[in-house]
Amino acid sequence: IFDTFTIKSRVRPVPDFPKPGVMFRDITPLYQSPKAMRMVADSLIQRYVEAPITHIGALDARGFLLGAVLAYELNKPLILFRKAGKLPADTLSESYATEYGEAEIQIHADSLEGGERVLLLDDLIATGGTLLAAARLVHRMNAEVVEAAAIIDLPDLGGSQKLQDAGIPVFSLCAFG
Ligand code: IMP
Repeated sequence: IFDTFTIKSRVRPVPDFPKPGVMFRDITPLYQSPKAMRMVADSLIQRYVEAPITHIGALDARGFLLGAVLAYELNKPLILFRKAGKLPADTLSESYATEYGEAEIQIHADSLEGGERVLLLDDLIATGGTLLAAARLVHRMNAEVVEAAAIIDLPDLGGSQKLQDAGIPVFSLCAFG
């Protein structure tokens, strides 16, 4: 059974990280709890087991952990959205602004062919810049984003709204205001 408290109690607030004024939500305690981790994984599996998705798109780096579990359980191909400079073959790139500065993500150019239906996964939605950049990469490859999913949403930072405004459905397991 899913209960938000089990998840939220395993997220540690760390003030002034990575810079003054930012309240960082640290989810490493969640990964240290098999019960919470199983709850997260089972909830996402249940949500997407019947969904018309063809690919799991996981975001560097904490999105990879969930992405691998989902790709395994749902028996779908896993594609990686990596921070710039990590992927060795031909890539497509998108730049975006984060809470902390400029960033860039890339995918391998042969990750998608066109026509795929991708579930995007990350641990947390803040300003939404990362997932929006990932969605742009999917769209540039003529594929679709079925949904952008995360464990945690920080709605005050406006990211989930921005994604929805861009026509991308959003799902999160819990929120911190
Ligand atoms: P956004 O692009 O502003 O939505 O930021 C989301 C990305 O930054 C995700 O990949 C998160 O892993 C990371 N991130 C931003 N803020 C936090 C936080 O408070 N805790 C954990 N990860 C964060």
